[in-house]
Amino acid sequence: MGLKAIAEKVKENARVEHVKKNDRVVLLAGSSKGKQSRIIEVNKRNGKVRVEGISVVKRHSKPNPTRGVQGGIVEKEAFIDASNVQVICPSCGKPTRVAHNEQSDGKRARACKKCGATIDKR
Ligand SMILES: [Zn+2]
Repeated sequence: MGLKAIAEKVKENARVEHVKKNDRVVLLAGSSKGKQSRIIEVNKRNGKVRVEGISVVKRHSKPNPTRGVQGGIVEKEAFIDASNVQVICPSCGKPTRVAHNEQSDGKRARACKKCGATIDKR
C-alpha cells in the first residue's frame, strides 16, 4: 500500500473521530436541535451515532417467550449523522470542536478547542 492509499484510509477512518460512546453532546440540527444528551453508539463506518433519547423510533415487536422478549412497542434511538452533534467539554462545559493532540506515547488524545483540556481520560 502506497503512502497516498494509507492517507486515504486514515481519512476514511477519521470521519467519526470527534465523538465517542458516552460523550455528552449537543444536537446541532434537526427537531432536537439544542438538546443535550449522551452518545450510546458510534458507527464509524457510516459516520453515524445513536444519541440517548434523540430520534427515537417505535418498533412493533412480536413476543418471543423462549428469549424472554415481551411483545409490544419497543422504542429505540435511530442513527443520526455524526456531524449533527458536537461534544460538550467535560472541563469547561461548553459545546466545542475537538482537537487531536499527539501524546508522548504517540497516541492521539482529544482536546477541547475552547479551554484546551484533554477530553479523553487515559
Ligand atoms: Zn473546554
